[in-house]
Amino acid sequence: MTHSSTPATVVIYSGGMDSFTVLHRALREGLEVHALSFDYGQRHARELQVAAKVCRELGVPHQVVDIRAIHGLIDNSALTDASREMPEGDYGRENLADTVVPNRNMILLALAIAKAVNIGACRVDYGAHGGDHVLYPDCRPEFVEAMKAVAGIANFAPVEIHAPYLRASKAEILAEGLAMGLDYADTWTCYRGEALACGRCGSCRERLAAFAANGATDPLGYSQRPDAAADVSQRPAAAATPPGGSPDV
Ligand SMILES: [Zn+2]
Repeated sequence: MTHSSTPATVVIYSGGMDSFTVLHRALREGLEVHALSFDYGQRHARELQVAAKVCRELGVPHQVVDIRAIHGLIDNSALTDASREMPEGDYGRENLADTVVPNRNMILLALAIAKAVNIGACRVDYGAHGGDHVLYPDCRPEFVEAMKAVAGIANFAPVEIHAPYLRASKAEILAEGLAMGLDYADTWTCYRGEALACGRCGSCRERLAAFAANGATDPLGYSQRPDAAADVSQRPAAAATPPGGSPDV
């Protein structure tokens, strides 16, 4: 159980920028924070190492749940299947669909709610962000609102789902984190599991665009940092367009 008087929350913490910001935000609220990460066989397991380091340094209890046992249920994604090509270029409906892990957020939220009930926490914090161009169905406000309703009735004790950035863009989340003085060198975004971030996948490009929108420099090292990704207003050069599809949404 949690310590008696301080309200506790379970923060779904992937090691990425959004959940890193959510984690710090919950700590600044004075909550007793329990970080929860998932190993679902993602190619970018590097983010789990970053998450562990951050929690160690913050003195936050960190649990990594190995859900690879259900890999056979969720392996039809470029994120979890190393034999598949990782799409490059900005997110569009075609290349993004390849990076959807089936029912991911419902699975992760269900497990986080279970942990919250288990330790007597009243809340689950979750870094979904809507932005202007939300394409993942389970990052949409409608999904989160429905999950909030379920979390209120699924157990004897209601659990609140707190998604502070549901209607914020990546750039807005970063702006808040930078204002808090957070060091984003302690985050990992790239979908490829390489030593340096690739700078080419949709996730890297979105991250670089968020830094550019804030007039800030990303402290991460990149194997390639295309100019096009540094400015959201520019479309990628033809060479960066994945074969068979335009990255335009
Ligand atoms: Zn990348």
